Amino acid sequence: MKASQARFIAGSEAGSLLHIDLGALVSNWRLLRDRAGGAEAAAVVKADAYGTGIETTVPALHRAGCRTFFVAHLSEAIRARAVAPEATIYILNGLPPGTADVYAEFDLRPVLGSREEIDEWAAFCRAEGRRLKAAVHFDTGMNRLGLTVPQGLALKGDPRLADFEPALLMSHFASAEERDNPLNQRQIAAFSAIREAFPGIPGSLANSSGILREEKPHFDLVRPGYALYGGNPTPDRNNPMRPVVGLQSRIIQLRTVDAGDGVGYNWRWTAQTKRRLATLSIGYADGYPRPSSGIGASGEISERGMAIVAGRPCPFAGTVSMDLIIVDVTDVPENEVKRGDLVTLIGGDLTVDEVGRRAGTIGYEILTNLGRRYARTHRETEI
Ligand SMILES: *Cc1c(COP(=O)(O)O)cnc(C)c1O
Repeated sequence: MKASQARFIAGSEAGSLLHIDLGALVSNWRLLRDRAGGAEAAAVVKADAYGTGIETTVPALHRAGCRTFFVAHLSEAIRARAVAPEATIYILNGLPPGTADVYAEFDLRPVLGSREEIDEWAAFCRAEGRRLKAAVHFDTGMNRLGLTVPQGLALKGDPRLADFEPALLMSHFASAEERDNPLNQRQIAAFSAIREAFPGIPGSLANSSGILREEKPHFDLVRPGYALYGGNPTPDRNNPMRPVVGLQSRIIQLRTVDAGDGVGYNWRWTAQTKRRLATLSIGYADGYPRPSSGIGASGEISERGMAIVAGRPCPFAGTVSMDLIIVDVTDVPENEVKRGDLVTLIGGDLTVDEVGRRAGTIGYEILTNLGRRYARTHRETEI
């Protein structure tokens, strides 16, 4: 512990503690790599490595053997480059106008997704006299980013492809987690046609869920994100991944309210009987989603937010405020809960997928909103 931190009781400088298990992260990466057959396993570390922190996550994966990383933004790529000087880094959101020199300076590869971006990268490479590497993105069904398949096939023999080095052909699944969605087969077929048009260039289609699909659409490189961080890539089956993120918050205050009392902003929750409440030091300013608010009356089965207090699930009472959440701890014996105790908000049965579901969203959004003011701890458990 650094001297400047010594006056704090561990973790009490912040309202909540975020535990990141880098050992679980690495074992998830290895599992996905093994499931990808002989394909290279990259790692998607956009959005601050899905909230877990680029500066710790990228080196941990690099030490485990991961050599290729994907981010969304140039700023994220520069952060990744600082901690992984040798790695290959691709920028999924492409090439913003006028930035090619920065890409070259930091040895970053754009994922070129339009004819304009290809033009700009090719012109830059011509001017520099260097065949710099880039990926080319083909849109096989998302209708979001990338050349359409006809545009892509028309690129065959295009002289601009000689100006730079197309190092990766890429596309992205729209519904890889939906086992029976026929769009998956269509995307695999469209991507296979693209690959045949450009022999010798490695191809990449699969995200986390794509890696575990029965068709094994692994091609040469896979791009897992969510599953690395413990999210379930197979939502209709058990989660094969180890949890990476745990979140605990501290009880600031306990109180008892009477039948008929309203709780929190606008009294969106009322006690039907005498209830015992705990106020937690966490809120939407920490990225905890406000739609998890416990609205209604006590005794109603809550499909909203939940905390685990002394081993028991306790529902949120009232709206999630900026810095505080109130939970109904009536079911916890009084001698098992006191001021200063830590309660679990992500962990055990409260997986990131479950927390997302209870907030009316997906676990991806829970992870990528993880707050900046948590005290963060890192562990390196190995199996
Ligand atoms: C985010 C992203 C991924 C990773 O997807 P997960 O579902 O998190 O595994 C892969 N490829 C592209 C193009 C992405 O945008």
